[in-house]
Amino acid sequence: MKVLLVLVALSVAIIGKETFEGHQVLRITGKDEFQHSLLKDMAEMEHLQLDVWMEPIDLSTPVDIRVPFTSLQTVKAFLETEDIPYSVMIMDLQVMLDEEKEQRLSAACATEPRTTDDYNYTNYHNGDEIYSFQDMLVAENPKLVSKIVIGQSYEGRPLNVLKFSTGGTNRRGIWINTGIHSREWITQASGTWFAKKIVTDYGHDAALTAILDNMDIFLEIVTNPDGYNYSHKTNRMWRKTRKPNPGSSCDGTDLNRNWDAGFGTAGSSGNPCDQTYRGPKAHSESEVKSIVDFVKSHGNLKAFIDIHSYSQRLMYPYGYTATPCNDQRELHDLARKAITGLASLYGTSFRYGSVMTTIYRASGISIDWSYNQGIKYSYTFELRDTGRYGFILPANQIIPTAKEAWLALMAIMEHTKDNTN
Ligand SMILES: [Zn+2]
Repeated sequence: MKVLLVLVALSVAIIGKETFEGHQVLRITGKDEFQHSLLKDMAEMEHLQLDVWMEPIDLSTPVDIRVPFTSLQTVKAFLETEDIPYSVMIMDLQVMLDEEKEQRLSAACATEPRTTDDYNYTNYHNGDEIYSFQDMLVAENPKLVSKIVIGQSYEGRPLNVLKFSTGGTNRRGIWINTGIHSREWITQASGTWFAKKIVTDYGHDAALTAILDNMDIFLEIVTNPDGYNYSHKTNRMWRKTRKPNPGSSCDGTDLNRNWDAGFGTAGSSGNPCDQTYRGPKAHSESEVKSIVDFVKSHGNLKAFIDIHSYSQRLMYPYGYTATPCNDQRELHDLARKAITGLASLYGTSFRYGSVMTTIYRASGISIDWSYNQGIKYSYTFELRDTGRYGFILPANQIIPTAKEAWLALMAIMEHTKDNTN
């Protein structure tokens, strides 16, 4: 056993896998505006290497921050001196990651799945495994599913989109993407489950059948393939792309701050070392540009749904401005209906509202862009949980998370079918 541990330690050192030993995730609740501004300043101190997992919505809600072991003493001393309340949400992140990895390995099949029925939906999979899944699904359902490659990632990986269609020419379409932020593993896993759900339900479930008899569904599961690969191989906490930034030692752009909607305004960062770095200009990232080009050339998309984790929210535009969008009332009512459906399965509760009022100011985000393109039903999800595990959601929650989210998606898709032409 000891030898094994030494070997593991050695191999980690050799391949340079980032370790999070002793990192804690703190949930910090600023009591007033002054404390919130102190927290913001602290989060921006580069030498502390802090990673904001969830930002506060308003003065009454907490911020979750991953604090490296080397900064823990400083941060805690600061919080205590300033009398800012906090609790430790995750005591040692690496322990949790080790458990995740062990679970993943023990659940992995000895042989590769040959069909999508054999695919293990209760486990997390890497990008190659998901790509194989997509090809199997297409091969098994040639009349219903096809694969479109809408572009290439920075490192040259294909940007695959599954098209679910029963025919017709340029029918109204619904766009769904998962995994824009690579570390949000529950989203790619849910996207995979959705894909299988669609082929299973078509012809059997009346509501889904009616949707697909009138509309096409486009699903991009691995929307940030380079980041996803890196989150598996090197740094589980990787959120951005992998493109280097000239003049900076920090890589990657936040794909959900790169869209041409309030681009560059408050709610994103101009610092390449930040998690919310927006990139040099709108649509500078091929992963974003490929979707933009696809959406524009399609020209008949009626819903655009971008799926993230965590914090359990369903939101509509805008994120870059407090001005309500024109369809606020309808989008709000539909969001309520969707999360009511979602909650009916396991009682999971989601907040809902506009991005700015429900989560925080965020500029250059996907759904603000799609809404401004005239795609009325633009929504973004934050799936489970509310912070107990954060991005490290145990694999035994994949199916329940996907199943409940599917009910919300169905509500949005049905409404879109019935209210557009
Ligand atoms: Zn995200």
